[in-house]
Amino acid sequence: MDIILQQGGEWRADCALVLLPQGGAVRDAAPALWAYSPWIALSPALRDCSGRKEELSLLYGHPDLFLPRVLVAGLGRPEDLTARTVRFALAGAAAACRARGFSSLALPVETLPWAALGIPLEEGIRESVCAVLRGLYRLEAYRSAPEEDRAPDMASLALCFPGPVPDAARAAAEEGLAEARGVFLAQDLVNGPANLVTPSVLAGEARRLAERHGFSCEILGPEEIRVQGMGAFWAVARGAKEEPRFIVLEHCPPGREAEQPLVFVGKGITFDSGGISLKPAAGMERMKTDMAGAAAVLGLFAILGLLPYAGRLPRVAGLIPATENMPDGGATRPGDIVTALSGKTVEILNTDAEGRLILCDALAYAQKRWKPRLLADIATLTGACLIALGREVGGLFTDHPGLRDLFLKSAAAVGDLLWPLPLVKEYEDSLKSATADMTNTGPREGGAITAALFLRRHLDPGTPWVHLDVAGPARADKASPLHPVAGASGLGARLFYAVVRSFATGDY
Ligand SMILES: [Zn+2]
Repeated sequence: MDIILQQGGEWRADCALVLLPQGGAVRDAAPALWAYSPWIALSPALRDCSGRKEELSLLYGHPDLFLPRVLVAGLGRPEDLTARTVRFALAGAAAACRARGFSSLALPVETLPWAALGIPLEEGIRESVCAVLRGLYRLEAYRSAPEEDRAPDMASLALCFPGPVPDAARAAAEEGLAEARGVFLAQDLVNGPANLVTPSVLAGEARRLAERHGFSCEILGPEEIRVQGMGAFWAVARGAKEEPRFIVLEHCPPGREAEQPLVFVGKGITFDSGGISLKPAAGMERMKTDMAGAAAVLGLFAILGLLPYAGRLPRVAGLIPATENMPDGGATRPGDIVTALSGKTVEILNTDAEGRLILCDALAYAQKRWKPRLLADIATLTGACLIALGREVGGLFTDHPGLRDLFLKSAAAVGDLLWPLPLVKEYEDSLKSATADMTNTGPREGGAITAALFLRRHLDPGTPWVHLDVAGPARADKASPLHPVAGASGLGARLFYAVVRSFATGDY
């Protein structure tokens, strides 16, 4: 879809969008549009626009007009307004326009209520473009023919300015477009079935991004994973017929070779059967989404690649340990002891606690290879985190108050929900093994915390490490305006990019 910037007097599209607060008037919500399109005042449907949340009213002018229709989307009561409401209204309105067959949408920036939320115009433009595009996401790769009621794609979104287009608006719009595309890549991968989104396919996606955008990319196969000494990762991979891949992606702008990178690690279990500690059958099909962390890292790189100014960003590396977790004659048995890349030994009591096994080796790899300025991992790690925080909120673990604040601020800026959870020292005992340095699982209670403690044991003290357990919010069982296809929420890619941006601008 094309993003067009239109200045005063040039506005044209199949439909213009107005965001209306409850109790407000369309005239006040979009004064320039009102002036350009005097027919609105005469439209009989105007009196039906109440501005109630989620309400959509369509006003019709003469079909030959430059702006023949206006869709009025309700925002609800002004005192309840949040960025989420605005994103949902934009995404929902875009989907409604497409469903009606409109091929172009005009968005007068005057109608965007970002200023009321303390958000500057450029940021608001970025968020608006991203929200409109996200509302139009669909997944069609796995159908042999289009659905019968499929609405055609929308051709363009026009951002409409009352006067001349400000210089910064173009870059902000492009940033929003790049972010939406990064989220789409992550959603496509998470929504894809496990037989078609294998570790090799994730590696191919990384290679494709590298070739297209000039990143460096290394892919390690089974032999190299073992030679490197990633015994914990290998313990998970050995039961699968699909070969594992360890993916290393790096964005290193010229002149930054000596810089310590920001490293993002994503859990890439392309299917989690539980291994020999087999999961129950009910709902097991959802375990294709256990690579949402990996998808977030690839989504981040898609964003970096699409940005026109990525050369001004810091050095960023992405690591993805990718494998299936399957039971077969070669699979790891409960009770097996393996040596992780950190040199520590692990007694594997439950083969379904596999995410921490692949992550601990990726974290150790990052430390051995670089001295990261930031080492962040994201994983659909524990059901315990889902029980603790619910379906929409991810758990945030770190020893560094500054990084905690950075991630909370970044999540808030992109509309993701995170909540800090503690690394409780007293729970370390629950990882005690009678025979090895540690077990890979503690009791059910506090399971998200023991998983985080397990990961920390493979790090050097003082490492600037952040761990995100997103078992809840990475998946979306119900569709919503921002993820209109149930399955993947697309969480993580934008959040990581917001973190990178903070390092680039010196905000952290
Ligand atoms: Zn598992």
